[in-house]
Amino acid sequence: MRLILLGPPGAGKGTQAAGIVKKYHIPHISTGDIFRKNIKEGTELGKKAKEYMDQGLLVPDELVVAIVEERLKEPDCRDGFLLDGFPRTVEQAKSLDKVLATMDVALDSVINIEVDKEILVNRAVGRRICKDCGATYHIEFNPPQKEGICDECGGSLYQRADDNEETVSTRVEVYLKQTQPLIDYYTKQGILITIDGQQPIDKVFEDIVNALGA
Ligand code: ADP
Ligand code: ADP
Ligand code: ZN
Repeated sequence: MRLILLGPPGAGKGTQAAGIVKKYHIPHISTGDIFRKNIKEGTELGKKAKEYMDQGLLVPDELVVAIVEERLKEPDCRDGFLLDGFPRTVEQAKSLDKVLATMDVALDSVINIEVDKEILVNRAVGRRICKDCGATYHIEFNPPQKEGICDECGGSLYQRADDNEETVSTRVEVYLKQTQPLIDYYTKQGILITIDGQQPIDKVFEDIVNALGA
């Protein structure tokens, strides 16, 4: 299965990605995770990406497309993949179409998780992530059993530098302006699935699985 997860910051893409990749046995490709890993390791790419990420702005298309293209050509993506947080501009979507065409494969579905603008800031500001395994929690909506500790692996939880109210608001605006046009783009391709992301996490997952019909 070749899938894209689309939705504003805080919609629940990462949370749903964890269940989807387990069920369909496909790799999870999150461009945000790739950038954060590069920042942590102090690479050139990380240094460039950080300037934009700290401000809540998109990293330039040419930087993003190159890393995704390289990743999609790895052997584990041969039978499917889940892209999370990419594409984020029409330019990126067009580049992705070209890359997939050269690989002689096509997307199956684009899962659009819909959440009202008003609740996104709370979602992102309360988000906590495991530093060891990347599992995502929410201090109120999906708390770990023991505060600050990952249920899955016992790792400690941290808050992303860009998950503060000001940067999240900018990211939501950036989404509406630069990423939302992709809803039209994929509707025209006939592969868009829209899911109500304001339900409990398990129900959102159930709706996704039913919509994928597999
Ligand atoms: P995204 O990857 O789209 O930015 P996340 O999956 O990281 O979003 O979710 C953002 C925050 O909202 C996290 O703290 C997560 O635990 C929480 N969350 C995710 N889905 C739901 C939901 N359906 N209801 C309430 N909170 C949710
Ligand atoms: P969220 O889960 O809140 O939607 P991500 O982890 O996907 O956030 O992205 C964090 C930041 O990384 C973005 O605000 C942006 O600066 C950068 N980024 C991630 N993916 C892309 C992309 N496809 N194009 C441009 N910038 C990106
Ligand atoms: Zn963990």
